Amino acid sequence: MTEIALTKVEKVGSLPIDKELGFGKIFTDHMFVMDYTTGKGWHSPRIVPYADFPSSPSMIVLHYGQAIFEGMKAFRSNDNRFWVFRPYEFLNRFNRSAKLLCIPQMDVEQIHTALFQLLALEKNWIPGKPGTSLYIRPFVVADEPHLGVKVADSYKLFIILSPVGAYYKTGFNPVSIKVEDKYVRAIKGGLGEAKTPANYAMSLAAQQDAYAEGFGQVLWLDGVSRKYIEEVGTMNILFKINGEVITPELNGSILGGITRKTVLELCRSWGMKVSERQISIEEVFEAHAKGELEEVFGSGTAAVISPVGELSWKGQKITINNNQTGEFAQKLFDFITGVQSGQIEDQYHWMEEIKG
Ligand SMILES: *Cc1c(COP(=O)(O)O)cnc(C)c1O
Repeated sequence: MTEIALTKVEKVGSLPIDKELGFGKIFTDHMFVMDYTTGKGWHSPRIVPYADFPSSPSMIVLHYGQAIFEGMKAFRSNDNRFWVFRPYEFLNRFNRSAKLLCIPQMDVEQIHTALFQLLALEKNWIPGKPGTSLYIRPFVVADEPHLGVKVADSYKLFIILSPVGAYYKTGFNPVSIKVEDKYVRAIKGGLGEAKTPANYAMSLAAQQDAYAEGFGQVLWLDGVSRKYIEEVGTMNILFKINGEVITPELNGSILGGITRKTVLELCRSWGMKVSERQISIEEVFEAHAKGELEEVFGSGTAAVISPVGELSWKGQKITINNNQTGEFAQKLFDFITGVQSGQIEDQYHWMEEIKG
């Protein structure tokens, strides 16, 4: 593999105190960059100071959105060692997103090496207090200057790093969710399976309406029949009904979350009944009416587990578990964050150590 060129900053920065860590506003000293040019492939891998980069006003991504991204996390354990949660899962998904957006495939081993080299250099930026982490944002943009709609012939891949504070500062707070019946997020055959900016642009109007109506998040239904549950904002969704864990199957319009996968693996390993299948919003409301809807929660890298306290659909509102965090959601959260922080043994081999 080509050597990764290294240009260091003249003066390194330092990790701010915990209460100044929000989400995604502070960046570490360095970033990884690599270029793609048709005929040459991916080339010029380098770690350079985090900085603005030269770009053309006509570059394709600005006009037609040819771009993908990922989001994963690194942690510091109490013994001052450093770890990444399931990096290959995220990097493989990055390549699957690339495929849908006609972005050239990347060599996962090469990106993995680059990521761990960057992280080894930036170790001091990984916070260690409970709930904090270093958020890792790999992304690719089409940077060819051209106003025609076409698959670009040049791209830039970046990995930038941002220390983030605890998502839950004062403990869990179950969220109130609007079941969206006007807008849709994605449809089968579209881009829903990919982490690509268009999906988030698509979600803004619904999110804004939901906020204005006093809700914290939007629950998306399928784009065709508007019956079947898909996912929440930037999280997958799971239901516990009569002891069984149910989540929508990955049908082509849902983002296959790594946290979702982790939760399902855990549930199976704990001997619970698990179903990945179509589930309609009506079924959820009926289960509630029968007293069988025990818990509802979202899963995603940012929050890990996010309990849902209320669901509102076409003016009907149901309250789940008295608007309290369920026992099971709490157990999953404690287990996954316990492994991530090094407090619980990593028996499933989710964590990869940053060495050097
Ligand atoms: C990132 C994301 C998720 C959660 O995926 P994780 O891999 O668990 O972080 C779910 N839905 C959408 C739309 C997302 O963008």
